[in-house]
Formats: sequence, C-alpha cells, structure tokens
Amino acid sequence: MREQPKVLVVDDEESVVITIKAILQLDGYDVVTATSATQAREAVRATEFDLVLSDLRLEDGDGLDVLRAVRERSPDTVTIMLTGYASLESAIQALRAGAYDYLIKPSEVEELRSTVGRGIERRRLGLELRARVTDLERANREIAELNSSLQRRVDEATAELKEKYEQLKELDRTKSQFLSMASHELKTPITAMSGFLQVGLRRVRRLVEGNASEAQVREALRSVLEQLEIVYRQTGKLARLVDELLDVSRIQTGRIEFRYGDVDLGELAQEVATRMQLTTTAHEISVTRGPTDKIVADRDHIEQVLNNLVTNAIKYSPAGGPIVIDVRDEPEGVRVAVSDQGIGIPDKELDAIFGLFYRSPDRAARDAAGMGLGLYISREIVARHGGRIWAESVPERGSTFFVVLPEMPVGATRGEPAQPSAARR
Ligand code: ADP
Repeated sequence: MREQPKVLVVDDEESVVITIKAILQLDGYDVVTATSATQAREAVRATEFDLVLSDLRLEDGDGLDVLRAVRERSPDTVTIMLTGYASLESAIQALRAGAYDYLIKPSEVEELRSTVGRGIERRRLGLELRARVTDLERANREIAELNSSLQRRVDEATAELKEKYEQLKELDRTKSQFLSMASHELKTPITAMSGFLQVGLRRVRRLVEGNASEAQVREALRSVLEQLEIVYRQTGKLARLVDELLDVSRIQTGRIEFRYGDVDLGELAQEVATRMQLTTTAHEISVTRGPTDKIVADRDHIEQVLNNLVTNAIKYSPAGGPIVIDVRDEPEGVRVAVSDQGIGIPDKELDAIFGLFYRSPDRAARDAAGMGLGLYISREIVARHGGRIWAESVPERGSTFFVVLPEMPVGATRGEPAQPSAARR
C-alpha cells in the first residue's frame, strides 16, 4: 500500500466533509471529498481509494449505491458508512452489503480516527494477503511447470537409455553370432586341410618306410599331388576370409586407403566375368555394355566390389543359371548391374543385407557359406567413391545389385592418389 493512504469522504453537508478532511489529513491521509452521490461515483471511477467514508443518505441518491460502485471498481477498498440514529436499520443493511463498519453522526473525533485507522489496517492486511496469495499461485504454477518439464526430461532420458540398451543388446547378439559364424567359417577349410594333409603324410611315410615299385611310387605321388592341390585351394579360401576380416577392421579404424586412377568399368567387368567363370560350371556369366567413359576410381577396391557381387550371385543361385553384368553410362556416372536368377531377397531385407555381419535368416541363404561382411565392405568402398549401391529382387526369381560410381570421387584428381598417406607408398 502507498505511503499515504487515499481516503474519499462523501457527505452532502459541506461542513461535515471539511471537518473530517481536516482531521484525517492530520493523521497523514491523502483525502478527497465529494458532496453528492454523482461526484462520489466519478471520484471512485477515477481513482482507487484505500478507504471510502460515505454518508448513507445523500440528496441525489443512496450511500449504498456509492458502496456498490466502490465494490465494482476495487473489491478490496474498505468502506465505512456514516449514519444518523434514525437510520440505524440502513447501517446494518450496509454492513450486509459488504461495508466494513459504520459511524453514528455526529461522531467523536477519536472514534472517527480509530475506526478509519482500523479500516486502513484491514485494507493493508487484505492487500498483503492478496499479494501473498498471488505469490503462492505463481510459485505453484512455476513448480507445476518445473515438475512437468522435469518429468518430460526424465521420460526422454529414460527412452534414450532404453534405446541405447536395446542397441547394445542387439550389437552384443550380433557379435556373438558373428564369432560363432566366423569360427565355423575358419574351421571348415582348416578341417579339410588337416584331413588331406594327414592322408598325404601317411602315404608318403609308407613310401619312405616300405620298398614300393616305381609304378606304386608314381601312383602314390599322383594322389598326394591331388591332395596338396586341394589343400592349396583351401589356403586361398582361408586367406580370403582373413582378408575380409582385415578389411572390416581397416574400415572401422579408418585405415583403408585408396589409390585413384583411370578405370574402364566395362573392361574390368569383363575381366571379373572371365575369371569367375573358371569357378563355376552351373552358371553362365556374361557382360553386356554400352559405351562408357573411364572413371577415376581405386581399381583394386572396385574389382573387389564386383568380385563380391558376382561371388554372391553364384553363391545364392545354387541351381545355376545366367549371371549378367551390365555396364552403362547414366547421368549420375557409370552404372554396373549384376543380376542372377537365384533365391532372391525378401523386400524387408533389401537394406539390411548391407549391414555389418548381416546374414539372412532364410534357410536357403543360410545354406551358403559366408560371414556377412562382403556387402558391408562393398558399400563402404562405393560410399568412399561418392557412389551408391542397392539391390532389387523378386524372391525365388533372382536379384540385381546396382552400383553407380561418379566420374570422379570428391577430393580425387585423375591419376593421383586422393590421400596424402597413399602417396608415400
Ligand atoms: P555373405 O554372403 O558372406 O553372407 P554378404 O554381405 O555378401 O555376406 O551378403 C549378406 C547377405 O545378403 C547374404 O547372407 C544373403 O542373405 C544376401 N545376399 C547377398 N547377395 C545375394 C544374392 N545375389 N541373392 C540373394 N541373397 C543375397
């Protein structure tokens, strides 16, 4: 409340108003006076008073009207009615209508001062209470807001943790799966090699210890030679598996290096087709090609991608059939498509197959050996060239793998390695 409480005094007798004003001013109040109901209502509209002291019976109206106007304007303003003995009844009515107190005229100075003083004190307490309530309400709202934002953050963090946990669990599962798969893949050639070497050893030992004829020796040597060839082929398979593992580790540690040069993809595709044809009699591998420009790429790594795709085309079409490598120019660069007529890939796996360690849960796919690394490595190599790789397929009818390579990888210059580290080699 302001330092100097504002008081309105209303009475139609000028002398009463002046007297009361003088008394209250001495007590430090800021006093405004009115001598009619109309004047009083105007004053009330213009200013918010702390206390209104009003005669009940005014010439141009009722004091209760003034009281109502005050309540409408500011419900916290304290009102005191002035009344004569004759109208005590209306004073009680005024109290019912919300007046704080009443004074009977003519009232004593002391009584006037103490009643007004109490009224002002009441007004002060009321204002203080209202301010407290407002503060409390604000604090309450703030707490509620904090609470809900806290809850939201807890919910978000919980969801995030849950997701991380699920990811970790999935990774853990894939890792154990991979370990058992990789051990199995490595074990197979080793078991074969060990078996053939044992048989060969026994043969040679018998030759050394016994006294075989020259014909028997030649016969024995021929079969040992066959076994050694098988063993040699198995070491090749083992080396390829280890190479794949090394590739993944290089990719993941960022140590894979590229040496860029001019590459004729049509020619490269033909080379790969010719070489891969030597590994299968059930498939017929052919190349179709349009006129293409040379691109700038790492030849060895792109060859590795084509090898992967053709190896998969053979692996995943156990019944054999044609395999076509198509090479042609596209607005984006040069496109290579490798199609087979094999077991195909379900729609929902078309993206997943490029993931690390991914192997299809499908029985038919499981029958082929593999660690689920080839397509992951291929995708990394193609991505590093700024290209794209994807697959389309009709299950049980066959698949086509597409690779599009830009004419020049970002950051590479024709004939020069893109990375300074590769230049030193
Ligand atoms: P791997 O062949 O060692 O399993 P890849 O990364 O080369 O690993 O392939 C991942 C998976 O994609 C395979 O397990 C197989 O399910 C599927 N896949 C790849 N190529 C073909 C294809 N030509 N036809 C059908 N499925 C394929």
